[in-house]
Parts: sequence; structure tokens; C-alpha cells
Amino acid sequence: MANAPALTFEQIPHPAPVPGATRAQAIADPGFGTVFTDHMISIDWDEGHNGGKGGWHSAKLCAREPIMLDPAASVLHYAQEIFEGMKAYRREDGTMALFRPDQNARRFNDSARRLAMPELPEDAFIEAVETVVKADRDWFPDVEGGSLYIRPFMFANEHFLGVRPAKKYKFLTILSPAGNYFKSGAPAVSIWVSSDYSRAAPGGTGAAKCGGNYAASLVPQAEAIAKGHDQVVFLDAVERKWIEELGGMNLFFVFDDGSIVTPPLGGTILPGITRDSLLTLAREEGLTVREERYSLDQWREDATSGRLVETMACGTAAVVTPVGRVASRDGEFTIGTGGPGQLTSKLRAKLVGIQRGEVEDTHGWVR
Ligand code: PMP
Repeated sequence: MANAPALTFEQIPHPAPVPGATRAQAIADPGFGTVFTDHMISIDWDEGHNGGKGGWHSAKLCAREPIMLDPAASVLHYAQEIFEGMKAYRREDGTMALFRPDQNARRFNDSARRLAMPELPEDAFIEAVETVVKADRDWFPDVEGGSLYIRPFMFANEHFLGVRPAKKYKFLTILSPAGNYFKSGAPAVSIWVSSDYSRAAPGGTGAAKCGGNYAASLVPQAEAIAKGHDQVVFLDAVERKWIEELGGMNLFFVFDDGSIVTPPLGGTILPGITRDSLLTLAREEGLTVREERYSLDQWREDATSGRLVETMACGTAAVVTPVGRVASRDGEFTIGTGGPGQLTSKLRAKLVGIQRGEVEDTHGWVR
């Protein structure tokens, strides 16, 4: 892949862009994931390309529009599909910024390898994202805490029903103006521990960002909502005792002795980029940071004794969010005061500050 010829992106402006007034309305009240911008990136991969070695071609910025799929397209049958979730931020000086896009590019290729899909060179991934963000920068939402949500994804589109890796793929990137995930800052969330379902087993696809993982999380997530909670938290699939992660966020446990713990990446957890950033920021705050297993029983015991003072959930969508209440089949417990804790608020402010250019970016995370 390293020797593949560099891609050039053909620029095809939208022939009939959305009228300015419609766009203005959309960016004044974007919500999440329902409004989309005018353009998208499209790149194709074929086994026969590049002298039979397989390769990417036909890279273009074009109108966002429906795509044609043959009913036999392999993604519709065997779910060879992966995606990323990232955001473009607007900084005080009006420029746009991406946060650690190289990490999304790398994780995308980790996912690709696990799903037997071709890798997209990291620089092509980043150029794809930058090209469409630049084209549709006028879609940046006009709300406090708003961002342009970026969704790069890839799927198999060979017409073939045999069970084997497809010989044709399409990579697309679309954008959606997004409001603040939580209307007023970060209220504490209430979470439900799933006893009946697990998210990922050892050797499975838990560390990959593939659509199938999210399809499998819908029933347990619906169960959490039905029981009056915001999010589901998954236990490990083997012993059913170790905390893994939420349906779309990683977890951190904060103790009264200035130490924090997060579950280790063992192939069953998504390696969150927010998680990785918080590990670094927490170390810089002088905290003792451990990546180690933490059980539901210990969590309950430590919350009750007061040794555990905060629990943070983290991810691109909601940045850092306090967990206030935890419920399972065995009853409920409250974390700290049940509201946002000190460290959660501090780390959240720091990370948001770096993303928006208000806190110095000493790590070169912002592009
Ligand atoms: N876990 C899961 C299952 C997720 O879907 C996400 C969101 N990508 C995360 C954790 C957090 O990852 P990140 O910080 O990279 O957004």
C-alpha cells in the first residue's frame, strides 16, 4: 500500500446546492445526524486496479446524493462495513480545526484489517476529510458548542453472494452539522449494566469500528432506555464481571487518592481517541493512571464506601461526561454526589479548550 500511487481528488462542485435560506435554518438548529451538507468524498477500490494488485481510484469531491447498490452488493449480506466518527471545530479566530485525525485514519485501517478490507493510505484519509470540510465550511452550525460531525466509512459493493472478502469497495465521507450533544453542558448520565447481552468476545470485532457492533448494541441500549437510563454499559463476555465500555463511550474511574483506572484495551473495547487523550492529560495533572480491569462488584463497593469519587464516560460525541447513577439487576448505586465531579469538569474543560484553540496544544493534536 505504501507504494500505491498518490490519489488526486477531482473536484466536482454540487450542480444544485441547497439554497442559503434552507442551509441557514439547518445550521441554526442542527440537532444530531439528521441534516447533511452538500458534498461528499467518494473513492473506489477494485481488485483489478493497479495492474491486478488492487487499488484505490476515482477519488472525487462531488454532490452528496443517493448511491446505487446492486441487491447482491456484499455489504447487504455479510456486513463488510467500517466507519469513523470525528469532528471539525471552529476556533476563536474563525479557522477550522481537526483533532488528531491521524488517529482516526490509523484506527480506520485497524478496522479495515479486521474486516478483511483494503487499507486507505492515512494521508488520503486525512485529505479526504480536509477536502470535504473545506468545501462545506459554510455549513458550520451557528450554535454554542456546535461542530461539523464527520463520517468517513467504507463498504463492500461487489455483486457476489459467496462468503469471502469482496473484490470491490467504496469509501465515502459525509458531513453533518451537529449541535451540542447535551443542550446545557454535561449533565450526569444514568447507565444500565446489561446482564443478558455482551458487546464483544475475545477474538471478535470489539476493537473494530464496524457497523455490526452497533447493530448488536441496539437491543441492550433499548433495554437501558426502557428501564429509564441513558446508556448501556457492557461487561466482559467470559466472566461477566469486568466493566468494558458503554455502547459508544469509554469509561474512567476516579479515586479519592488521586488515581484513575480505565479498562485495558484487550481487543474487546474500542480504542477511543478521547480515552487516549485523557490518559495523557490525566498523567500531566499528576494523577496515577492505570489501565486495568475493574469489576462491577468493586465499582459498587467503592462507590458505596466513598473511595470512588467520580466516573467519567468519554468519546468524540459528548467529550467527557459524568456518570451519576449505575443500575443493574442487583440494584442501584450513586457515584459521588450524583452530579459532575471536579476532575471530570477539569479534564473536559482542558480537552474542549485544546480542540477550540483556547488552551495551548502542547501535543500537536490539532490540525
Ligand atoms: N467506544 C465505542 C463503542 C464507540 O463507538 C466510541 C465512539 N467512537 C468510543 C468508545 C469513543 O471513541 P472516540 O473517543 O474515538 O470517539
